[in-house]
Amino acid sequence: MKKIAIFGSTGSVGENTLNVIRENLDKFEIVTLVAGRNIEKLLKQIEEFKPKNVYIIDKENAEKIRQKYDGLNIFYGKQGMEEISKLTDFDVSISALVGIAGLRPTYNMIKSGKTVALANKEVLVAGGELIMKTAREKGAKLLTVDSEHSAIMQCLNGEENNEIDKILLTASGGPFFDKEITENITVEEALNHPTWSMGKKITIDSSTMMNKGFEVIEAKWLFDVNPDKIEVVVHRKSLVHSMVQFKDGTIMANIGPKSMQIPIAYALNYPNRLPNKIEKLNLFDVVDLKFEKPDLNKFKCLALAYKAIKKGHSCQVVLNAANEVLVEKFLNKEIKYTDIPKGIEKMMSYFDIRELKTIDEILEFDEEVREKMRKEEM
Ligand code: MG
Repeated sequence: MKKIAIFGSTGSVGENTLNVIRENLDKFEIVTLVAGRNIEKLLKQIEEFKPKNVYIIDKENAEKIRQKYDGLNIFYGKQGMEEISKLTDFDVSISALVGIAGLRPTYNMIKSGKTVALANKEVLVAGGELIMKTAREKGAKLLTVDSEHSAIMQCLNGEENNEIDKILLTASGGPFFDKEITENITVEEALNHPTWSMGKKITIDSSTMMNKGFEVIEAKWLFDVNPDKIEVVVHRKSLVHSMVQFKDGTIMANIGPKSMQIPIAYALNYPNRLPNKIEKLNLFDVVDLKFEKPDLNKFKCLALAYKAIKKGHSCQVVLNAANEVLVEKFLNKEIKYTDIPKGIEKMMSYFDIRELKTIDEILEFDEEVREKMRKEEM
């Protein structure tokens, strides 16, 4: 039995992970569930999966859990997160907390030298260098449940890194690929993603293609390739999950059903595959596999991500922090859709490049950028 921890159990990645586990109870057992504020959902998960350790942000909610489940290790608050992320009683941990909040706990898990499967992009965008270095030092295995990176990882099975000519990172293009981007775009329109159903923050990031920008950064760290060897390919049908082009011209593509559960199951049972009940792709129904180039003048956030990679690590922290604040403001209807790239660009030129060596330095700088971004009049 593999022992599984889920950081972010009530979000869409967390729920999909539990769906995989529910179908494979002979292989996996849940030891840790970490949730934010959704106490009702967490209580149901505790009842069904009987974990040993649970976390919820608020003390009052932690108290509610304690009243029902005495004997459970219950953690809450900032200190609780530090403690639960330092437990080492797991084999694979899914890191699916939203935003920068996932960085320190993931860093702690990697220090245990175990297997950590990343769903949270910010971990590598803000902390890539330190995270990869720590994983190497501690012998931790870093996997990913992101469909594109899981696809690339599978295309690279048995291949040497120096055989790669380029990574072809696919993108759905989001709801605005065939439409004009104007300042009148509403929250509802931006949340209407054509192919994937995900949390709000990542859905907005997909619409601006910032999500793809983060994925370029993520791929650079995970596969140790130069960013100009990572090309974004828009593929509206989301059937090709990504590709690798090798030096001899061969392109390996990962094609399959659109389901978050497949990459999650692959990470949980790595390096073996798991059968599932998901409808198989019928190749004869696939009419054409169309690939298009993204317009970087239109999808400014993607262009800014490439720019941030060139400028250096601290600029990627700025990119991520500014974006997170702006997306929240947009969701609260405080700013216009087009203010998202505008605000990021402003912050990227405001902050000079600086050296960030430790997790504390990264998080302090991240907070500094957020402070500045929150106060900024758009
Ligand atoms: Mg993805």
